[in-house]
This record gives sequence, structure tokens and C-alpha cells, in this order.
Amino acid sequence: MAGGLRCSLCQFVISDEDIITGSRCHRQCLNMISPRYLKCLWDMTDASKYDYMPSARQLDIRQRKIKSLMGTALLTHFAHSKSNLPLELWEIVAEYLLPHFTTANLQSLWEPTPKPCYANTTQPIWCKYVEFEGNQYVSTFSNEPKSDDWELVFQPSNAGIVDVYAAENHFGITKLLFSSPHNLPKVDEVEGIWWRKSRIDEESLNIRASSDVCHLLLYVYG
Ligand SMILES: [Zn+2]
Repeated sequence: MAGGLRCSLCQFVISDEDIITGSRCHRQCLNMISPRYLKCLWDMTDASKYDYMPSARQLDIRQRKIKSLMGTALLTHFAHSKSNLPLELWEIVAEYLLPHFTTANLQSLWEPTPKPCYANTTQPIWCKYVEFEGNQYVSTFSNEPKSDDWELVFQPSNAGIVDVYAAENHFGITKLLFSSPHNLPKVDEVEGIWWRKSRIDEESLNIRASSDVCHLLLYVYG
């Protein structure tokens, strides 16, 4: 399951029967991409790339999540139609359309130009999340929340040096935590999640990142 050639857009396996285009993606996935984005197809496939290949179990969980999300989306879409079906049947329909659904979601979230974001650790830090394939990812952060759905993730104190902990899965950063020497973060072990710790530079006290919305690249000075 984990092996084999994968479509560079939807990340599902390309089987022998699938039609492969020159871009190493399913033809049906390529057909989902708006013509105005075709010229930056390589950037889009770069954004959808995994940092490492998840386990077969994680890939199976992902497939089941997407099937459930799409089944629910179809049920909601046809809620007032006579042709609506029970959720179990929509999930069977969804099984045949997982690459289409995944690629359409990727395109709807993707930003052609990665947006930079900055924050200084002498002030409170707020995060914005984006949902992709049923998981929440940090899409940006700032010292100023831009809307009500931003979450306060750090409140500065006089405790001194700050470390930033980024929880990452194969695709992006799911959470940011900050700690001072006397205030270590409490984290639970979650399958498929790794924690990366970086010490924030004492002189600049800044963190920065660039994000194509579903894929935050974090840089910590120092
Ligand atoms: Zn595909």
C-alpha cells in the first residue's frame, strides 16, 4: 500500500490501469486543475508533496477520512434533492472520486505565492489553522490576530529564553507550542506526529515562516 508510484497531486497510488500524464499525475486530477493554475502546476505538486512517506496504516486512515468527508459533502449537497442517498451509499460513490475530491480541495486552498509570516516573541502570538483532509494545519501566525478564529498560542512572560515546538506530520505543521525554561510544554504522543524543537535567537526573538496555505515552512532564527 505504501509503495508504488503516487500521483503528485492527490498522492493516491497510480495503478497500472490509470492514465499517467507527463506530470506524473492522474489524468482526472490534472483535469481538475483550473487552466489559470496549469502554468504553476510544478509549484502545486511541490505543495502537495509529503515530507516523508506515512505508514500503510496512516495512509489507510487518510483514505477513510477523505471518503467520509466526501460522503458527508455529497449528502449535504443533495440534502434537498429527490436523488439524495443514504450516507453509506454516498461513501461508496466517494470511493471512486477520491483523487478528484482531494485535488479539488488542494486547489481551493493553494496560494500561488507563498505568504510570509512573522512574529516576535516579546508579544503574544496568534495562529490561524486551515483544515485539509480532516486534519488541522497551522497556516499562518502573527502578533496580531486578523479575525476571531485565530488562536492565542503564546503569551510572553519574563521567564527568558523561549523554545518553539512544532508538531509535524508528513504534510505540515499541526500545532505550535512555546516554552520557557521553567514552563515546559505538555505534549501527548500521537501516532504519525513528530515534535521538532528549535531555540529562538535571544537577540532577534523572531520566528518567521512561509506558507502556501496548507504547507507551512517554519524558520526560527538562531
Ligand atoms: Zn491523482
